[in-house]
Amino acid sequence: MNNFSRKLTNWYLDNQRDLPWRNTTDAYKIWLSEVILQQTRVQQGLPYYERFIAHYPTVYQLANASEDEVLKLWEGLGYYSRARNMHFTAKDIVHRLEGKFPDNYNDLLQLKGVGNYTAAAIASFAFKEAVAVVDGNVYRVLARVFGVSDDISINRTRKVFQTLANSLIPAHSPDVFNQAIMDFGSLVCKPKQPLCASCFMQEECYAFRYDKIQELPVKSKKIKVKERYFNFLLLEDTQKNIVVEQRLEDDIWKNLYQLPVVETATSAVFSEVKAGYEKQFQEKIIDFTELDEHQLRHQLTHQRLHIRFFKAQIIDFKNTIAQNDIQKYAFPIPIKKFLKKYYHQS
Ligand code: SF4
Repeated sequence: MNNFSRKLTNWYLDNQRDLPWRNTTDAYKIWLSEVILQQTRVQQGLPYYERFIAHYPTVYQLANASEDEVLKLWEGLGYYSRARNMHFTAKDIVHRLEGKFPDNYNDLLQLKGVGNYTAAAIASFAFKEAVAVVDGNVYRVLARVFGVSDDISINRTRKVFQTLANSLIPAHSPDVFNQAIMDFGSLVCKPKQPLCASCFMQEECYAFRYDKIQELPVKSKKIKVKERYFNFLLLEDTQKNIVVEQRLEDDIWKNLYQLPVVETATSAVFSEVKAGYEKQFQEKIIDFTELDEHQLRHQLTHQRLHIRFFKAQIIDFKNTIAQNDIQKYAFPIPIKKFLKKYYHQS
């Protein structure tokens, strides 16, 4: 085994985190954990993983669940397309593949929502196939240790790192290597302030030797952030039922529930928002006020949401739910927080 892999796996065997999806070769559990952990820190993802496994111990139970139920369980984790794809894939596996996960990297890649990283993780952890995981952690570790200066914001660079990582992965323990490099990237060779002073890889590390830690990996493109302005409306009838709607368009929070909304191009004046609602409901809005104290900003990877809440009355209430049923619906986090605070729910 090369020096890098030997040192890395030795370190991992002494320092590994005991995580529930590491004590199994069940492809379903590994897949579930990988989908949950995309874009999510381990500590945040762990309770979700446990909740999903408790509700759906096998792919059959997940396939039989309703999408509303899956989204509700996913509530707060963000990137809801992951949950929708996961549910779709569970049904696909049950109906097309008789409940069996494909047992190799190339076939795993055919599943919806399963990209190179997830396919490599499942193939190596469940089936011991020697294919390396490559994500932001791996880019960073390999760029620094081996002095790779290819720009990681360019798509074709992935191949460069995949080839390098595949050349390092030991055939007899690809699962340990993949777990080790992921842990090393998130615990030691961190994006900011890596623990170089105590790092066992100093001798091998190009960036350490040539003082290039801040420059590697190379990433030229910055993510463009779009500003969006959402004005949500709380409509409450005399029985304190509230109007909700489902977001059906191909946009953030697809299929989640929300309060009626008017989206404006910039921070709108009061009368513009009111006119927007009147158009939407085709009727007059009465007692229209802004709930100033609930204004907030919500940051997503590519979007910054400027959110305001309003309150009003209408004559014809449709699509209402009881206040007590709010908990049964999957709402985006800012709306869930607003409703909780507004109704003083625990
Ligand atoms: Fe990463 Fe620093 Fe270790 Fe190099 S010496 S592998 S940059 S933590």
